[in-house]
Amino acid sequence: MRTVKTVFFVCIVSLGSFAANPVPDNDAVNKIIQTALQPSTIQENLRRLTDEIGGRVPGTPAMQHAVQWGMQAFSAAGADSVHSEGFEIPNSWSEGATEMSATTSHMVSSTGVGGGTVLSSFRVRAVSVAWAPALAPVKHVPIADVGQGTEADFQKAGDVAGKILLVHTVVLKTWDDLFAEYTNAPPIIDRAVKAKAKAIAFMATREHDILYRHTNSEAGEIDRLPMVVVAREDGERIARLLSAGNLVWADLSIPNQIAGPIKTSNVIAEIRGAEKPEEFVILGAHLDSWELGTGALDNGCNAALVVDALRAIKASGTPPRRTIRFILFSGEEEGLLGSRAYAFNHRSELDRAAGVVIYDSGTGQTTGFSLGGRKDLLPTAKSLIAPLAQFDVRNLKLDMEWGTDHFDFMLEGVPTFVADQQEANYLENYHAVSDTYDKVDFPQLKKHVAEAAALAFQLANLNEKVGPRLTHDQIEQTMRDTNSVEMFKSFGLWDDWQSGKRGRQK
Ligand SMILES: [Zn+2]
Repeated sequence: MRTVKTVFFVCIVSLGSFAANPVPDNDAVNKIIQTALQPSTIQENLRRLTDEIGGRVPGTPAMQHAVQWGMQAFSAAGADSVHSEGFEIPNSWSEGATEMSATTSHMVSSTGVGGGTVLSSFRVRAVSVAWAPALAPVKHVPIADVGQGTEADFQKAGDVAGKILLVHTVVLKTWDDLFAEYTNAPPIIDRAVKAKAKAIAFMATREHDILYRHTNSEAGEIDRLPMVVVAREDGERIARLLSAGNLVWADLSIPNQIAGPIKTSNVIAEIRGAEKPEEFVILGAHLDSWELGTGALDNGCNAALVVDALRAIKASGTPPRRTIRFILFSGEEEGLLGSRAYAFNHRSELDRAAGVVIYDSGTGQTTGFSLGGRKDLLPTAKSLIAPLAQFDVRNLKLDMEWGTDHFDFMLEGVPTFVADQQEANYLENYHAVSDTYDKVDFPQLKKHVAEAAALAFQLANLNEKVGPRLTHDQIEQTMRDTNSVEMFKSFGLWDDWQSGKRGRQK
């Protein structure tokens, strides 16, 4: 997953030229970059993860195999230590053989024999929304078009009790579109539940029959209503029939398999710090994925990047001053559950965290880093990315985004760096059947290995940590300064923050 909402954008050329915390040892950084760009096992590692292991949903054998893959790959890359840390997800979920068809009535010419009203049926290509409840087979249920699913759209649609609601969407083109796809769904579901609808059919945001998967629930809980994503072409056909005045009914069966809590694991490798081993930098990416494709762009390529960054730093021969933890998170797609568990379980040592770096946007070129709203990090961050100008990494953004594994560290007041990347082919293949190994741009990915390794190493080598751990009040002030409060509210996160359920308590 990765959703981005640009709130504040700062181009570094507009910043002052001073650096509060100069970066030492450029030779070592250059050596790491050169080592990172050398041929490595990154292609082979990713081929094994995607083609051999495949899509990786927590609770499945594939996810367990992926955890073993991570441990072996880190060891082979030269880690000083490797271990896994388990955590629980509230429910297991897997899709059965979802089936949907549509039937419409229409007139045929009455000239000749057999005129009058007839029925035609066609198959609707559909997959269940993840972590949505099952639906026992239903037949001949009316479909109602509820437009984009706004309050006004629902009013216009009238009584939709017992019906299947077709929701229109826009074709996914930008990061903002993706963010909107996530923010739009919960209020639509609220309205559908209130209106006593039978199920929701979201039109796919990708064309050419591409189907994809994601959750609309927040933290691994089972959602309130059965939901499918239907192929855009089928959804548009149904919408045209309805708008032409034809009645359309659906047969729908969503035999999802759902059970109680499951265990899954994060994988953690370390390069021990030579001078301040108790302080640590995290370089992370999530290892889990959806399973319609094989999770190559999201996020297998960046799991392989984290492994290769460890290799590059170790092979360059200069140990970092602080420890670097290389973490492959699980449960990200169900609501950032692995990184949330890690931040929560390691809360007592987060005063010693010296930065968290996350990659989660496929292999589009890195343009810069998002600093979680931390203006205080800008001068040092500018120095840290200076060696990355050769890769056109130049921008620093001040926003507090949701949607990837830095989030709970940011809410704990730890400095975070999320790689901002060009869309490239990420959005079209996002969570989709088409997210496979062949989509990965390896020459670009190798540059990202160099960037990630150089940034993590420099964070580990600064004289002083890049920034302090913020207090609860300082974090909240940052939310206000970056106009992020509404975003937290729209995802239902504000109450958890205010009550101390999530994030730093003091
Ligand atoms: Zn992701």
